[in-house]
Amino acid sequence: MARDFLKGAADEYDVVVIGSGLGGMTSANILGRAGHRVLLLEQHYKLGGLATWFRRPGGHIFDISLHGFPYGMVKSCRRYWTKDIADRIVQLKNIRFENPMFSVRTTFNRDDFTRLLTTDFKVDPVAVNQFFDTARGMNFYDDQTTTTRQLFDRFFPGREDVIRLLMEPITYANGSTLEDPAITYGIVFSNFMNKGVFIYEGGTDDLVQRMEKELKKNNVDIRIRCPVEKINVSGDRVQSVEVNGRTIRTKAVVSNANLRSTILDMVGPQSLPSDFIQQTEAVRLNNSSTQVYMALKPDAHVDESTGDLLFTSTAPYFRTEALLSRDITSRTFSFYYPRTRPDGKQRHAIVSSTNANWSDWADLSDADYEASKKELIETTLDALDKYVPNIREMIDWAEAATPRTFQHYTQHQLGASFGTKFEGLGVSRALPQQITGMYHAGSVGIIMSGWLGAMNYGVIVSNEVDQFLVG
Ligand SMILES: Cc1cc2nc3c(=O)[nH]c(=O)nc-3n(C[C@H](O)[C@H](O)[C@H](O)COP(=O)(O)OP(=O)(O)OC[C@H]3O[C@@H](n4cnc5c(N)ncnc54)[C@H](O)[C@@H]3O)c2cc1C
Repeated sequence: MARDFLKGAADEYDVVVIGSGLGGMTSANILGRAGHRVLLLEQHYKLGGLATWFRRPGGHIFDISLHGFPYGMVKSCRRYWTKDIADRIVQLKNIRFENPMFSVRTTFNRDDFTRLLTTDFKVDPVAVNQFFDTARGMNFYDDQTTTTRQLFDRFFPGREDVIRLLMEPITYANGSTLEDPAITYGIVFSNFMNKGVFIYEGGTDDLVQRMEKELKKNNVDIRIRCPVEKINVSGDRVQSVEVNGRTIRTKAVVSNANLRSTILDMVGPQSLPSDFIQQTEAVRLNNSSTQVYMALKPDAHVDESTGDLLFTSTAPYFRTEALLSRDITSRTFSFYYPRTRPDGKQRHAIVSSTNANWSDWADLSDADYEASKKELIETTLDALDKYVPNIREMIDWAEAATPRTFQHYTQHQLGASFGTKFEGLGVSRALPQQITGMYHAGSVGIIMSGWLGAMNYGVIVSNEVDQFLVG
């Protein structure tokens, strides 16, 4: 008989959280801590969503999305999780760029970028200062018609090299492009420039284990392998969710699943006004990614001077199409040294990431898909050999993930790595006004994406749910 993953679950909760990404887990933790009866339902067999990891023979362990986040994570983890978790966040100090336009190393904060821009790139210090101040002053309610390209043209006209330095890492960090509203760039860029780039020292497995422990301490009922099929609405109120053949009643739902799937599939058009459905249908998904995971043999060693995060590109200029193209020219390498990602075995791992289009991978036959993954691994090793000579001889394990992999494990439509484009934020925020008790918290609108964005959005939404429940 199939195992009952809901065995012992109650028939009713104060709030059901759908999905255990960082947004969902943070919401569940805050609401559990506040004393509400919380059920956390995750369709996968692991918690974490895109904040995840996997193991391979030989003791290798790979992180999927642990490449870098802003310092704000320290405060969010301390406040909404534990001091233990916050204390394990450490800075990556060696961020490196290698492309046909320039070769630089930086600690990726305002002081160091000012130094680079004024001395290496010879930009007027007044323009640099004004640019930083303008980016830092941006907020959600600003004008959304100015694009990131227009912002750059205002301060650094004709400087393709400066645009590349400023934009390439942010496109990598949240999928935004020169054509997106400037605030989607400015807010995330300023978050990083505050203090630099940070990661979680113990790896994603350690982080998620600590989060699970904390959720349990706060009496959150956690259930894996529980895909929610439907959210039932009665009148204009949320009533229950349908999962694994059971109907579980609830006063509130927080969906951490993809925004479009939440509204169009789980709630469904029958429960919402047609103009809201149209608005949702118009929300564009963000792009996806490919990755190549490489583990080194036990005796192989990469010198830490190679860098922590290495942004490489062979394209002559920075162009959105080139970044997404199946014909890869830009790769970001994350180096996991025994010091920065201790696993007790002194192993080194390297993960290469690129932005990617779903359509380039979606319809390949099984044979073509396997061949394309192989080619992705081979071309990545070729590209890496320039920075880690003889890499092929050092490798113990290599494998690839594609947009199809991300879709498979998270159910994100089109394998979206960062949820939706900017317009998703408005739709996500408007959902509780359409259906009482129905909330969404997850990567939307580029700003609220990435680890910090998803977690902080979970905080905002859980506060609203708390007010709703006690009100
Ligand atoms: C390759 C890659 C690299 C990245 N690198 C970074 C990085 O370096 N730094 C950074 O800050 N961010 C990075 N990100 C982005 C970051 O990982 C995400 O923005 C963030 O983790 C998303 O969190 P979330 O709360 O939106 O939920 P998600 O992680 O998207 O999780 C959603 C959860 O909902 C579950 N779910 C979906 N449907 C259902 C259902 N019907 N029933 C039950 N459960 C369901 C899914 O299984 C999943 O667990 C990266 C992403 C990718 C793909």
